[in-house]
Order: sequence, then C-alpha cells, then structure tokens
Amino acid sequence: MKELLKKLIQSETTADKGELAAAEVISAEFRRSGIDSRIDSWDMTRANIVARIESTGRRAALLFACHLDVVGPGEATWKHPAFGAVESEGKIYGRGSADMKGGIAAAVTAISRIVGSGRKLQGDIIFLAAAGEETDSCGARRFISDCGWLPELAPKGLAGAVIPEPTDFAIVTAHRGMLWLEVTTKGKAAHSSMPHLGVNAIASMRLILDELENYPRVFLSKTRAGAEPHKLLGKCSISINTISGGKTLNVVPDKCSIGIDIRTLPAQNHRDIVADLEKILVKIKSENPQFDAGVAVLREVEPLETDCHCDFVKEFCSCLEIGETKAVGFTSDAPYFASLGIPVVIFGPGKPHLCHKPDEYIDISDVEKAAENYENIILRFLT
Ligand SMILES: [Zn+2]
Repeated sequence: MKELLKKLIQSETTADKGELAAAEVISAEFRRSGIDSRIDSWDMTRANIVARIESTGRRAALLFACHLDVVGPGEATWKHPAFGAVESEGKIYGRGSADMKGGIAAAVTAISRIVGSGRKLQGDIIFLAAAGEETDSCGARRFISDCGWLPELAPKGLAGAVIPEPTDFAIVTAHRGMLWLEVTTKGKAAHSSMPHLGVNAIASMRLILDELENYPRVFLSKTRAGAEPHKLLGKCSISINTISGGKTLNVVPDKCSIGIDIRTLPAQNHRDIVADLEKILVKIKSENPQFDAGVAVLREVEPLETDCHCDFVKEFCSCLEIGETKAVGFTSDAPYFASLGIPVVIFGPGKPHLCHKPDEYIDISDVEKAAENYENIILRFLT
C-alpha cells in the first residue's frame, strides 16, 4: 500500500499535468489483484478511472468516490521535494499525500484485499477516482452525466457513497457550498488629464463595493435563509478576494473586476444569490445612467447536507463505532454524488489542516487504519 501511495504522489497530478498517470497507476494495481477497471481519458492528460466489483446483486451497491488531482506545490520551499513521496519517521511527505492520495491508496487496498479474500459480495463495489476536484469538478460531473449505466449494473441501486477525503477519521455529513463570482464594471477610456471625457470603471466598482458592504445584512437576510446559522455549518460568509482594474496611470480605466467568494448554507439557492447581486447592479444603474456592470459565475459547489439520521449514516457510524457526525470547512465533490439521490459521507485518513500547504504529509499508520475501516464498511454493507 505504501508503494501505491508513493507512486500516486509521484504521478504529480496538478491541473497542468492532468490525472492520466495516476489513473494508470491505479489500473495497474487493480490488474495485479485481478480487478478490471476502465480509464476514461480526454484532452490528452485528463482522466477518470472506474472499477466495479461484481456481486450477486442482492444488495444495493456501495460507491467509493475519490479525486485524482492535487493543487500545485505553491511558492514556499518544502522540507522534502513536493512530488518525491519521501518516507520519514512513519510519514510520507508530498503534495496530495493527505488530500487525497492516502484515501485513494486505502480504498484501493481495501477493495483489493476483499477481492483477494474471495468473500462473496451481495452488492457491488463501485470505485471512482475522478479528475479536477480542485478546479472545476469536471471529472465528477463527467461521471454523473455518464452514469446512466449505474442502474443496469447495480439493479438494487446505490446504498450510498463514501468520499475518502482527509477528515482525520471524522464522519462528515455536511459542508457549506461555494459560489465564486466575478463582477466586472465597464467604463470608457479617456486621457486622464480630461477624466470628465471618460467613465471610470474603478469609480463604478466603488459603488458596488459600497453596496456589498451591506450585502450580508440586506441580501443574506431571513428571506434568503442566510442569516439563520446552521446547526453544524454556522453562517453563510462573503469575502471579496481579488480586484483588478486600470492599465496605466494616464488613462481613465475602462474595466475593473472583483472576485467574490461566497460560502453558502444548504437552505440557500445560488441562483437567488446571483439574482440578488444583479438587482444591486440594476439599482445602481438606475441612479447612475453611465454605470455598466455584469456578474459571472466562475465556479460553484453546492452545499452538502446528508441526513445524519438515515439508515446508511447510522449503519456507517455503528460499523466504525463513532457516535457523531461532523461538518468541515472545505468543499468536495460530494454534492455531485448526493445529486444521485443517495446518502454521502466523507470519511478518510489525513489531517485536514495539512491540505494545500507546504510539507503536506500523511501518517502511514493512518492509511493502514483507513484501509481496515473501508474493509469493515464493505463487509457491513455488502455481505
Ligand atoms: Zn480533496
């Protein structure tokens, strides 16, 4: 398992390099265990990999859904090379070790061990490792839009999905959604010695920023269900994190844009939030005829809220002898799988606070523990 994890880290699945190399590592590992898998590849380097372990089909199937990609190593210097997969003092260092190649190695190992043991399964195991979770969830979306074959292969349907993301062995059933918006103002360029001949896009943006100061009070109010804190998730949040505008000091800028990161609650609808923002723009325009601005959705992930009292979650908790479910700060591909109408839990090895940071590592003992946990989960749900 350690060697598998090292190879996965060394496959360097950043957005630039794509996921194909890691999909091939998993495919080879499954082949050694006599398990067929299918790599779905596109744009030269992008890839999902899917494997299905057939059963008698008497019980509903269990889906393990991972992501193959990692974020880049960043600017900081690492103690060990970011894609070296160096082993030291019971840990393996490298980008993706925690998020989430440790979880992938554990799930692949658990599945291989179950198959190797010859245990008869009553429900199928479906394994997916998808592309692009860190950027646009293209792999999960591709899998979902192309999984019309699922009912046929798993006649009893899916019992639920397990996402082996690093939760440090907490059972996670909720996270907030993410809505990334870009608001752009358009102006009219002019020589800045005669600014009255132009329309200053930065000045237009100031009007929006002033309005957004009031946004949490006005637009995330009770009608949008954003003011009421969620039991596990707390409040909705909004943060303006990028701004750019103007090219040179002697020209009135004709364009300015900001990037807004909104973290949403399950009761909120992303379309409503965008519509609210558009209303703000209309209101400003009605007071300033020269004002011109638009909103674009750059990226969105729906919130996740799995009913923690449903049978799947209760059984999952009881199998692992964990009494409570939790929420996490990060987002995941889980809402895409929840859109299949199945309960989804996030559960895996690795410390969430190490993700996306320099010197990311995972304890080898945690990967081993996760593999055992996944084996037990498979046996509980599928035998
Ligand atoms: Zn992840």
